[in-house]
Amino acid sequence: MEAIHHQCYNLAEYPQPCPQPRMVRMRPETLNPLFADAQTIKGVGPRVVTLLKKAFDLPPGVAEPRVLDFLWHMPTGVIDRRSEPAVRDAVPGTIVTLAVHVLKHRAPPRGNNKAPYRVSCEDDTGKIDIVFFRTERSFVERQLPVGELRFISGRVEAYGDKLQMVHPDYIVAEEARQDLPMLEPVYPLTAGLSAKILGKLSRQAIAQVPQVSEWLPPQLMQAHQWPSFNDAVTFVHKPVDPTDVSTGGLPWRRLAYDELLAGQLALGLVRSSLKSQTGRVVKGDGNIRRKLIDELPFDLTGSQTEAMGEIEDDLASPSRMLRLLQGDVGSGKTVVALLTCAIANEIGAQAAIMAPTEVLARQHLETIEPLAKAAGLRIAVLTGREKGKTRDAILAELAAGFIDILVGTHALFQPDVIYKDLAVAIIDEQHRFGVHQRLALQSKGKDGGSNVLAMTATPIPRTLLMTHYGDLDVSRLRDKPAGRKPVETKAIPVERIDDVIQGLRRAVTSGAQIYWVCPLIESSMVSELAAAEERQAHLTQHFGDQVGLLHGAMSPTAKDEMMAQFSSDKIKILVSTTVIEVGVNVPNASIMVIEHAERFGLAQLHQLRGRVGRGSRQSFCMLLYKTPLSETAEARIEMMRETEDGFEISEKDLELRGGGEVLGARQSGLPEFRVADVPGFQDLLAAARNDATMILDLDPKLESDRGKALRTLLYLFECDEAVRLFRAA
Ligand code: ADP
Ligand code: MG
Repeated sequence: MEAIHHQCYNLAEYPQPCPQPRMVRMRPETLNPLFADAQTIKGVGPRVVTLLKKAFDLPPGVAEPRVLDFLWHMPTGVIDRRSEPAVRDAVPGTIVTLAVHVLKHRAPPRGNNKAPYRVSCEDDTGKIDIVFFRTERSFVERQLPVGELRFISGRVEAYGDKLQMVHPDYIVAEEARQDLPMLEPVYPLTAGLSAKILGKLSRQAIAQVPQVSEWLPPQLMQAHQWPSFNDAVTFVHKPVDPTDVSTGGLPWRRLAYDELLAGQLALGLVRSSLKSQTGRVVKGDGNIRRKLIDELPFDLTGSQTEAMGEIEDDLASPSRMLRLLQGDVGSGKTVVALLTCAIANEIGAQAAIMAPTEVLARQHLETIEPLAKAAGLRIAVLTGREKGKTRDAILAELAAGFIDILVGTHALFQPDVIYKDLAVAIIDEQHRFGVHQRLALQSKGKDGGSNVLAMTATPIPRTLLMTHYGDLDVSRLRDKPAGRKPVETKAIPVERIDDVIQGLRRAVTSGAQIYWVCPLIESSMVSELAAAEERQAHLTQHFGDQVGLLHGAMSPTAKDEMMAQFSSDKIKILVSTTVIEVGVNVPNASIMVIEHAERFGLAQLHQLRGRVGRGSRQSFCMLLYKTPLSETAEARIEMMRETEDGFEISEKDLELRGGGEVLGARQSGLPEFRVADVPGFQDLLAAARNDATMILDLDPKLESDRGKALRTLLYLFECDEAVRLFRAA
């Protein structure tokens, strides 16, 4: 997941279009408890907060978990403890809740902590042993005092002809009977945070939800038999029926609709606000563009020319440009970006290009600088690495208008970075280009607004485009630059890794360079790194010091150095974690090995493969997989072998995710949804979109009673930047 973190922007680092305090006052006071720090919940201290940060998908810009985040941390399933048989009838292998009397403790002999600690218990019908391993004696004695009645819940097992339960999930006395959740939601967890604790905290968070006025029309609720918002949130976290926790269940669907509606309303509000503001007309005479095109060693592709036409029209019109340029890796977005900057430069204004990482920012600079210089443009770079005097000097030149194009990371949009006249902002590889960012970025230009071109190599399926980018205009680069050879993709079981290494030996001898991407391990940076280090060590045995290692925990300088060594062919094999996912360009690299390919999503595999096939050499992509493959993993690998068309792959990806793998949009880099982030809500999306359009037609500023209720909805799903627009308008 490392690569994805790389691409996140922290909203705190962005200028706020509006001072924060006003926001706080605008939010209905009844919602304040939900926006309070998670530590206001009993049982949450600094240690738990650290764990929550790992478990929760906090939205961009939110550093500390809040009470609200418990609501949108959705369960992945439910443990059904409702079977309450007599001991005699308990079926081994099932989860049961039993009422038993404690008979006798049989502690392991002192000094033998491997032996189990057995406590025999009984009811009127039979006996069962409760078994503990490596457990404090005093703990067991406290939990199960001899002679007392206890309710225990967990999985029963047969042990010879006896019944036993190892480490029950719950042991409670009669007075705490209600603390034992008979239907217990299971949450995506993190090491150290048990379902039991998280469940308990979630239940407290639910209690903080104020009674809200309904924003959905009664007919709609009746038609779907949806519960109220308050009931829906409660049922999801305190289910009374197992279906309450399923994505297809009524409570979840209602909340998904709410989230989609909030999203569509926000997009609608942003779009109408943008369209109503008149901007400036940016229409150059074409002289810099001509110089640049003359410098290019190639002709523009059909789609590049078409995209330029669309961009020129946007800039020439008085309403602001907000365009998404989609094009597969290698489709030539950088040239389009540079030519777009040139339009701004032709009228004497400035342009900025922001990349998600330091490595990429520098790579852009390298590509663009020679061309830009030849066309007489002044170009500079600004990242987190430019500090002190260097940074001051850049800022001074920028403010004076001595810089035409500034390339960098999010450092470009920090509050003290002042442009003389920024007319165009380009954001590269921004998968998380949320409504937050759109609004923040705009505010950097003259008169509070610049034109924005966002670029992404993630081909986004049509439905998701509508969901996340419904307010943006879209250009697609469909055709690849001439002269590209297709990449040959092979699927190889990992047992044959030695053959693969033999093959690489021949390739290296003939001058090829190789990327070797190491397994993605869910939510564990440490083990991901360990796996990559181990692989590097292994390959070093075969290839000596020609093997480098790149991973996310390295300093930016160390990363750049490693990339430089690889680009300059000093290193032949670059082992890496998924950090190389974003647009790094090394044309001589012609082989991509992806270990544990079955763990990657289609979109990611496609992006990784796009790193090769950029030079004249025949390229290969080797998908090493571990058997047995799940049906979906097999379909993904099959798809990779069938086509290289990113747009086709993305549609297939979405379709496959319907198959029950809850990878959600996160894998494809569209992580804005927390409740509706699972497949199966397409029907709701279309309805939410229509609903939003109708609402905004009738009540463009959300001032009616329903409008006011809808504002609460926007706050609950944190689309409240959109509410801010009422002030701006
Ligand atoms: P991406 O869309 O992944 O950012 P780049 O802009 O980095 O792609 O372009 C990839 C490579 O293709 C670069 O080396 C670039 O110079 C080259 N390129 C771009 N446009 C063309 C074209 N029209 N014809 C041939 N090569 C091109
Ligand atoms: Mg690029």
